[in-house]
Amino acid sequence: MTDETFEYTLVDPFEVSYDLRRLARETVEFCIKDLGLTGEIELRWFRSRANHETPERLRAIREGRKLPWVYDTYPTPFSGMCRTQQGGYPPRILLDADARLDSIRRIVAHECVHVWQYQNNPFYGLYAGEAAKRLENDAEEYAKQVVEVFDQHEKANARR
Ligand SMILES: [Zn+2]
Repeated sequence: MTDETFEYTLVDPFEVSYDLRRLARETVEFCIKDLGLTGEIELRWFRSRANHETPERLRAIREGRKLPWVYDTYPTPFSGMCRTQQGGYPPRILLDADARLDSIRRIVAHECVHVWQYQNNPFYGLYAGEAAKRLENDAEEYAKQVVEVFDQHEKANARR
């Protein structure tokens, strides 16, 4: 996910729950080693209006109209994005400050794959259609494996 198309505000990390930050940090450290990523990855936290507002409501807000209705979810919320191309180094992952604890590992690992794709494929960012979908599938597939690794690890620790 790239960030040009979204409106968001960065959130002070101290406004984000400690546990959410801890899980995100742990996961990013794991993925840096596991994927052999070069250098550090900065984590930033955001709140997106797109996560809370529908296009109709955003349009109404822009036009200064009274808001006609309330939806509680936007049909395609997004929870993470990575910035690699704009002013480049170190890569930065932006995370939804309101993400759930049980999904943050998947979100972080997914975005780490995009960092890997960026660092290893000079054509990353130029893909569209089916090819872009494949990059997304790869990211999601890896993210599931990372979640699995941490789950197994936690179960093993619980048995001790
Ligand atoms: Zn993605």
